[in-house]
Amino acid sequence: MNLFDNVNRQFDEAADILGLSQELRELLKTPYREITVAMPIRMEDGTLRVFKGYRVQHNGVRGPQKGGIRFHPDLVLDDVRALASLNTWKTAVVNIPFGGAKGGIQCDPSKMSQHELEMLTRRYISKISMVLGPTRDVPSPDLNTNAQTMAWVLDEYGRKNGYQPACVTGKPLELGGSQGREAATGKGVAICARQAWTQVLGRDLQGARVVLQGFGNVGSFAGKFLAEMGARIVAVADHGGAVRRGEGLDVPALFAYVRQNRGTVAGFPGGEAFDPATVWAQDGDILVPAALGGVLTQATAPEVRARLIVEGANAPTTPEADRVFRERGITLIPDILANAGGVTVSYFEWVQNLQQLFWDEAEIFEKEEKILIQAFHDVEEKVKLHGCTWRTGALVLALERVKKANELRGW
Ligand code: NAD
Repeated sequence: MNLFDNVNRQFDEAADILGLSQELRELLKTPYREITVAMPIRMEDGTLRVFKGYRVQHNGVRGPQKGGIRFHPDLVLDDVRALASLNTWKTAVVNIPFGGAKGGIQCDPSKMSQHELEMLTRRYISKISMVLGPTRDVPSPDLNTNAQTMAWVLDEYGRKNGYQPACVTGKPLELGGSQGREAATGKGVAICARQAWTQVLGRDLQGARVVLQGFGNVGSFAGKFLAEMGARIVAVADHGGAVRRGEGLDVPALFAYVRQNRGTVAGFPGGEAFDPATVWAQDGDILVPAALGGVLTQATAPEVRARLIVEGANAPTTPEADRVFRERGITLIPDILANAGGVTVSYFEWVQNLQQLFWDEAEIFEKEEKILIQAFHDVEEKVKLHGCTWRTGALVLALERVKKANELRGW
């Protein structure tokens, strides 16, 4: 499976609806800039290792490039291209003034010390810093990177360029991070699930049964907010195990348990353990994949029992699985809308850093909800107009916005 091919196949469905020429398709699919760098690091055991890092800037016609930095042993350039492209469409769907980028380092952070990770992050930033900056490209955390990593990014960038907190988002609060950023993506997932379940499918969220894959940043906050909205979280699976309870899991207790238990739900006493591989087949109304890409495939899609899927993870669904869901009448709210709450609050962080004036959490969440509900309505209009899926509707909206900006700026 090639993630970039998958994203481009989804792009083509929207491009077909808009009747885009081959020339324009090529222009909008091709990343603006791709960088590969090598980082030699002297490890604590004395060996010298050379790590590979990437930064792909996909499209910056609507504003500075924006996207996460991922640390993963299997990271390849095509994944980075795919995720950069998704970010172009995501920032356009929520109509914030950013383009789409992504970066990362091929490494296994679980086998590295904090000191080695700091050296690696600094070396990576020093090698790509000439294309970064508040008006050029603004990184943020992604898989296996966090607020501490972003603090190193801020510091390393600042060595050459002076104090510029708007050069990176997802920072610790003490260094100019934003209130609400940690919970923002999960909150957005919950808002999209609520809108789809109540407004589109006309159901009641009270007691609606939710199945989650992943209980990390996105999954745990999505679960927390959905439970607060009245839904029951009936099954949760992650890398270490899975737990279910038909009457609904005690989410605050699970939240606390996972944070004290090496990040996994395995062994949680408030429910029955089950095989995480069977998560798709768990009985529920709403399914939230919030862990890995490419997990809903031709093989797993027929197992899904939910009426609604809300993509917390990036690219969890292959085009083949999309077709299965369409045929089975399962509504799917795509990643570029469902998990856009994170980049929306990253945008607020950038704005607050530029003006050096900070907002409280209530103000952040109110602004986030307003943007997401507007985006939800904008996508719904496209879905109704073209009779297409929500993924294609979101891409049509994004393509129109990026294409218009490109035309206005000229080639
Ligand atoms: P995280 O590292 O905090 O959590 C990842 C979760 O996935 C954990 O619960 C982990 O146990 C689980 N997981 C890992 N491998 C698994 C496996 N093989 N089977 C089942 N579960 C597994 O990461 P996160 O920040 O929550 O990101 C999750 C997804 O959401 C990623 O696809 C990421 O790109 C996407 N995303 C994150 C944000 C954000 O703001 N954090 C924003 C947009 C999209």
